Amino acid sequence: MSELITKIYENPNIYRIDVPLPNNPLRNLNCYVIQDGGETLVIDTGFNREVCKEALLAGFAELGIGNEHVNLFLTHLHADHSGLAFAAMKGRNGKTYISKVDYEYLQKVDQGEYWEKTDEAFIQEGFTREAVEELNGQNPANEYEPERLFDGALVEDGDVISVGKYDFRVIMVPGHTPGQACLYNEEQKILFTADHILFDITPNITFWVDVEDSLGDYLDSLVKIREVDIAVALPSHRKNDMDVYVRIEEIIAHHYERLVETLEAVEKFPNAHGTQVASQLKWSMRGKTWAEFPLFQKWFAIGETLSHLDYLVVRGMVAKNIGETNGYTLLKSIGECELELQEIWKTYEK
Ligand SMILES: [Zn+2]
Repeated sequence: MSELITKIYENPNIYRIDVPLPNNPLRNLNCYVIQDGGETLVIDTGFNREVCKEALLAGFAELGIGNEHVNLFLTHLHADHSGLAFAAMKGRNGKTYISKVDYEYLQKVDQGEYWEKTDEAFIQEGFTREAVEELNGQNPANEYEPERLFDGALVEDGDVISVGKYDFRVIMVPGHTPGQACLYNEEQKILFTADHILFDITPNITFWVDVEDSLGDYLDSLVKIREVDIAVALPSHRKNDMDVYVRIEEIIAHHYERLVETLEAVEKFPNAHGTQVASQLKWSMRGKTWAEFPLFQKWFAIGETLSHLDYLVVRGMVAKNIGETNGYTLLKSIGECELELQEIWKTYEK
């Protein structure tokens, strides 16, 4: 087998096709291929760009994937997962599974309303209209999407997809996207973690139009996955060289630190909007200052900050002063907020 493909597991046979994502901090997309009894399930595809397509199709050829009995499962709507939905299924009559929730978001994107609403929300948070306009067109999130909306075979929590004699259960894990889904095989205790749990980078949690509390949803989904009996955890990006349960605790702790940092920034700069709060947080950007951040990195950072601010707003620690300054203020002393956060955090403990 070439370097493109790694055999991950036997019975069921699982292969990983290493799809490169050049100039992207994620580095690669792990496309998993499950095969049994003449049936194939492909999980995720890579961006809709030539370099990804070449790797994906070369991987398919090497694995001898024909046109019959091939289905595709998209863990979530992001373009690095769904971008090649058409290319992967071209000439085949299989299904393209995706969660109902994420598919509805893709429909909103298709109708043009999703990005407009997102842009307005960012502008309200102090990201200027000029910045939004400059960014549109250079953001890989909308540049490498599938050419048009594909027909989705829509799944929900608990649905089962079979590959030969093996069953894979859909476990909904909202947070990273509103409708992200993991796949789980109970006999072998194999979990495809998608972008819900990544091992050497922290999954991006951001603001979503029509989602009140994406970080709260995400933390609940981490607790949900912690209850699952997992022997093999297969992430969508890079590699996994650590215990999944340890990693879950690390990610939960990371968000606690982040929330405390967010509270401190709001205390220090009352009525700051999301962009200003984001500029006060620590980001691992190889020594760059906020002003030196590339525009799209700022956009991601603001989105992540908004998800933390929303979490604090929903739980009554921070107010969002809509219509006035559009900024945020603390509703109690920072000491009280931190104590409250500690109490909330106990609910995430094992
Ligand atoms: Zn993603």
